[in-house]
Amino acid sequence: MTPELEIRLKHCTSLPSIPSVAIKILDLSKDPQVCPEDVSSVVTLDPALSSKILRIANSPIYSRISKIGTVQQALTLLGVDASLNLALSFSLVSGLQQQSQDSVLDYDVVWRRAFLSAVACRLLGETLKSGSLEELFLAGLLQDIGVLALDRVFPNQYSGIFNGAVDMFSISADERTQINANHAEVGAWLLNEWSLPKKLVVAIRASHGGSSRVDPDDGDQFNDCVMVSGLVADLWMNEENSEQYQRAFQQVQQRFGFDKDEFVGYLSKLADLLPDSAALFDTQLAWPGQSEMILEQAKEMQLVRSMRDNQKIDVDEAQLRSMEKRAQNLEERVRRDPLTGLYNRGYLDLYLQSEYEVAKLENWPLSVVLIDLDFFKKVNDTYGHLTGDDVLVSFGVLLNKNTRKGDIAARYGGEEFVMVLPGIEQPMALAIAKRLLEQWSNCVHQSEEKIQFGVTASAGLVTFDSEHLFESVQAMVSAADKALYSAKQNGRNRVEIYNQM
Ligand code: GH3
Ligand code: MG
Ligand code: MG
Repeated sequence: MTPELEIRLKHCTSLPSIPSVAIKILDLSKDPQVCPEDVSSVVTLDPALSSKILRIANSPIYSRISKIGTVQQALTLLGVDASLNLALSFSLVSGLQQQSQDSVLDYDVVWRRAFLSAVACRLLGETLKSGSLEELFLAGLLQDIGVLALDRVFPNQYSGIFNGAVDMFSISADERTQINANHAEVGAWLLNEWSLPKKLVVAIRASHGGSSRVDPDDGDQFNDCVMVSGLVADLWMNEENSEQYQRAFQQVQQRFGFDKDEFVGYLSKLADLLPDSAALFDTQLAWPGQSEMILEQAKEMQLVRSMRDNQKIDVDEAQLRSMEKRAQNLEERVRRDPLTGLYNRGYLDLYLQSEYEVAKLENWPLSVVLIDLDFFKKVNDTYGHLTGDDVLVSFGVLLNKNTRKGDIAARYGGEEFVMVLPGIEQPMALAIAKRLLEQWSNCVHQSEEKIQFGVTASAGLVTFDSEHLFESVQAMVSAADKALYSAKQNGRNRVEIYNQM
């Protein structure tokens, strides 16, 4: 995911949020001592959730003969892990459905697809006898959750990509070319923010990775099930679906070793399960008789044709991946200063503006340190421009070393650098800047003629906080510049703070 997109996500105030019942369930699932009574006490607080759990325990998915009458019985039957995963699935769906009213995004399609993937994913696990089935269900359900977030971040654009698209394969390609994003990565990011289990986050990040397995026994089948369930859902989303069929078949063949009959067998089981499962999710298939038609088509597919198309799809995927990689590399190059590898002025401006807005909105401190190497012209004049360049590179390395995750370091221009420290109060920022200058003054450099020398630097520090409410980024930078100027005046190799002047 690009840093720009991550910034936009972090600062988007209308992102889907995790429903409060789901938070409670998630907390329970992290407790190793949890028992059915604990689950029951949370589930019964939410009547809609209780009724879903009862319905699912009585549904053909669990193929019960006797009727389950109470939530407590249902939870005992399902077991703690399965109950927690199911409760999480239902509470997330109903909570998120309530949040998705005000957009032109086709939410019916989003949720129909989510439910199809969930059932398809669970059935894959059952067929392969692998994994926790309800965990697979949840992962299938959430695999395209990134779509909801992208719709919020690009409110005018994203529905144009999603609505009316034939499958997730084409949606992913359009995401990449039109908004330089990938809903699988965004979904993983969101679920991570919500503190959902790592396993789920990883599977969802990989769900449109398109990576092909060579050895079917290699690695985790969980991720494969999630990825393939999306392709199976695509089958049910389209009336004309031979392309989607080939793509799904190729993957089940490659990842699970299914032959054509096994795949058709799997699809017919899925077709049997769908009507009851749809009722559980208060959704419906696109049209009556859809499953029958899909099965007919599946049986008629010609193996010869599938072989030929498989080769074509392989090429398409490889092409897409290399295009994505090129786009990412190019972007990274545009953002970086070629000499030091630090972020450049353009990216700094963007980042600083965005952090400034967050600081203002959230009443968080934001510290900015402007650093200028001392008597640098003399270094060039004495040892030559190339040695000067080496010194700039070493400073970049040291600066990077002193930059934690969440901070950024940039080359502002020439021999001037900037550190942006979001959430850092002034005393802490001062300590960071002082330590950096001290380390720098202890570095020994060497000229082409092997003459050793040292260089110092001066810094100006400014902090946006409740006592210093700068009215713009420009005002902050100009204050940092003034502080830097007095550091130079006061003898260099020192930090000055703007408010002390
Ligand atoms: P002060 O302590 O007041 O900052 O003195 P100074 O000599 O560092 O300041 P001045 O602004 O006079 O000179 C900055 C020098 O930095 C001049 C310029 O040639 C040099 N410089 C700027 N960019 C580069 C670069 O990419 N490579 C090299 N080698 N030198 C650079
Ligand atoms: Mg300068
Ligand atoms: Mg200088």
